[in-house]
Amino acid sequence: MFVYFDNSATTKPSEEVIKAMNDALSVCWGNPSSLYGKGLEAEKLLKASRASVAKSLGCQPQELYFTSCGTESDNWAIKGVWEARKKQGRRMISTEIEHPAVLRCLEHLKKDGAEIVLLKPSADGKISARQVAEALTPDTVLVSIMHVNNETGAVMPLKEIRQALNAAGSKAVFHTDAVQSYGKLNCGVRELGVDLMSISGHKVHASKGVGALYVKSGLHLPVFMDGGGQEGGQRSGTENIAGIAGLGAAAENILKSRTETLERMTAVRDQLRRRILAEIPDIKINSPEDACPSVLNVSFLGCRAEVLLHMLDTEGICVSTGSACSSHVKGSHVLSAMGLKANEIEGALRFSFSGYNTLEEADYAADKLAQLAAAHRKLMKYHKG
Ligand code: PLP
Repeated sequence: MFVYFDNSATTKPSEEVIKAMNDALSVCWGNPSSLYGKGLEAEKLLKASRASVAKSLGCQPQELYFTSCGTESDNWAIKGVWEARKKQGRRMISTEIEHPAVLRCLEHLKKDGAEIVLLKPSADGKISARQVAEALTPDTVLVSIMHVNNETGAVMPLKEIRQALNAAGSKAVFHTDAVQSYGKLNCGVRELGVDLMSISGHKVHASKGVGALYVKSGLHLPVFMDGGGQEGGQRSGTENIAGIAGLGAAAENILKSRTETLERMTAVRDQLRRRILAEIPDIKINSPEDACPSVLNVSFLGCRAEVLLHMLDTEGICVSTGSACSSHVKGSHVLSAMGLKANEIEGALRFSFSGYNTLEEADYAADKLAQLAAAHRKLMKYHKG
């Protein structure tokens, strides 16, 4: 059996996405800026895809800019706000548990004089609106808080954070990295009250090489890439029509079946969690009870997660030891910020789900995990301490 439980790293493109991309490559391959029919065909597809993605975020098409990935969207949002607002204030508030796409940007801006405040998560990986309110100062220009954490699935209270910003009369721009929540939770930008939102195609069964940034109407970010004037002159470069068409198809699926997808994920996550808790001794669940059901993070005490990962791979099961992007970095900065002990971090595996996973897969993975964790612990001569 092949079980793909690493959907936070990337997802399998859906049939609808593959068809849309294939059509875009074989039919709509013109340049959308060209004035003849072949170009107009591509422009029409670009427009339709923008409308679909905008609808899935509850925004206007003109508030949505296509990018090459979630990382680019985060870079554009954060560096853009800095450039636009650094004369008004230097403080930027974020969290210790952001993805490196956000953390590295903030580090970069520190060298340019930004005052970066990173909020510490609670033991279950969450940030509260109160923490944000307490960190706010009149010269805070950006608050960037992820929606769902990629390692634990912890959901951040974006609506409450918006209320806290309003209550304080803050003029800070509110950005969220919604790369892990898009397609799972409601990412309506108006309901969440965000000014900027980053999403990525390959996490929602579209392809790599495409993402988007929502920019609230009236908020002016500096031009991200100069050139031929595509994307309203904000982000030049001939559009990745196939990737964008794929993201449009993925957005249509999200609009049609996000709730059912979430239900399927929840059933699979619950089954795996139930069986791990019942059948494997000495484990610690690191995802909070109310986490987004797309992620389950578990420490297998006495195990080295990387060894367990490779053992699972030989049985056809794909999981991760943390975020794939940071797999070369030692230890997880997220689990470490949550205060986990070294042995808990060393034994932590992330299981992440999509709507395509099944209960049979959860059962197969639970069976194999129980066998392999026991075998690995025996080799490690692990005895409950
Ligand atoms: N933000 C989060 C929370 C992520 O999980 C990821 C990827 O894992 C990214 C940003 C980067 O997205 P991309 O791979 O599209 O650059």
